[in-house]
Amino acid sequence: MTCPRTLFTVAMIADGAQNSVAPGAILLENSTIIAAGRPESIGEVLDAQRVDLPRKLVMPALVNAHAHLDLTHIGPTPGVGSFADWISRLQSQRASDDAGIEASVRRGIDLSMVGGTALIADIAGVGSIVPIRTLRDSPLGGVSFLEVFGNGLRQTQCVEMMRKVTEDIAQDAGSVKLGLQPHSPYSCGIEVYQAARRSGLPLSTHLAETLEEIQFIMSGDGPLIDLLRHFGAWDASIESAGQHPIDHLESILRKTPCLAAHLNYIDDRHLALLAAWPLGVAYCPRASAYFGHPHHHHHPHRYRDMLASGINVALGTDSMLCLDTPNRISVLDEMRLLHRRDNADPRLLLQMGTTNGAIALGVEPSRFTLDPGPVAGLIALDINPDNALDPLRQILVGDAPPEWLSGPH
Ligand SMILES: [Zn+2]
Repeated sequence: MTCPRTLFTVAMIADGAQNSVAPGAILLENSTIIAAGRPESIGEVLDAQRVDLPRKLVMPALVNAHAHLDLTHIGPTPGVGSFADWISRLQSQRASDDAGIEASVRRGIDLSMVGGTALIADIAGVGSIVPIRTLRDSPLGGVSFLEVFGNGLRQTQCVEMMRKVTEDIAQDAGSVKLGLQPHSPYSCGIEVYQAARRSGLPLSTHLAETLEEIQFIMSGDGPLIDLLRHFGAWDASIESAGQHPIDHLESILRKTPCLAAHLNYIDDRHLALLAAWPLGVAYCPRASAYFGHPHHHHHPHRYRDMLASGINVALGTDSMLCLDTPNRISVLDEMRLLHRRDNADPRLLLQMGTTNGAIALGVEPSRFTLDPGPVAGLIALDINPDNALDPLRQILVGDAPPEWLSGPH
């Protein structure tokens, strides 16, 4: 008979809640945490199998709040030229047939698992339902956001396409929900955002990512016009909004929960505005660094100001093209970048990589803590107990992948 309870005693347990102690212990029954804390607070548990891991730090599974798994097959790609050049090149490399998309998403799922991920916000390129089918066949939970493009005269066609595609697929089957992602304010008109909101499905978008986007929305000119022309997506009915993209989308974002990726360029006044909206931010530190955002004469990314203002900021990886880890996709490496670059607080980083992402995806955040109750998974990392450095900092200065102790569930 297998033992249904396991007592892990480890060098340290850590989460984004209040359960970080060294040494630590976790009593797990199947996928439920019965107790977590100091080993002496749990004591001996006679009916539990005991697993001693004195050189491991254990934490909850991670949440990736913005990924493009269907681009995984392209691999890490050195940056080239302008953002418009990059997008153009990307479109020529993306898989266009169902088998190619499925293989890329499967690889992305495998690499996400290697990275300790249990929950993911995945962007399904150009409205394909292959990614959601592939995700639903995997151990990961989350949302597959169908990405759509449609501006100017093409909005009607785009709204109709969204309606058709979402009719064809069960919206809430199991642990991967269907969502919609109007790509960006420069590639989608306000009617497309309105229709996405009316659908009642989870909503996501890229927002305030580049200065070119801000220029385009603010004054209706700049290099993105050439990009839209290149894709046959430009027409003369597309007008400037005369304001920042965040203000341009205010009528949508003020009342509807939305997961907005990047927000590299915001004004001071946006902090209070965004805090009052039901908005989640998916900050992708490596992607922002890859594209050089925010540019040096602009304020560094405001994620800590956002958090201090009460805005929910989670972490995303964006696509494999921007990553320096060809063998895994993990927000742990985003946490490492922020720790290395900004000396960001490890506990704050853990929150961003776990509970904040769960909240942004509408999932119970306690599943990504060590609080008693169901847990999405437990992952472990090697630490050196003889090293004076805090074990949580040790894993942030290291670069090893995590291993699964339990899950994902
Ligand atoms: Zn993206």
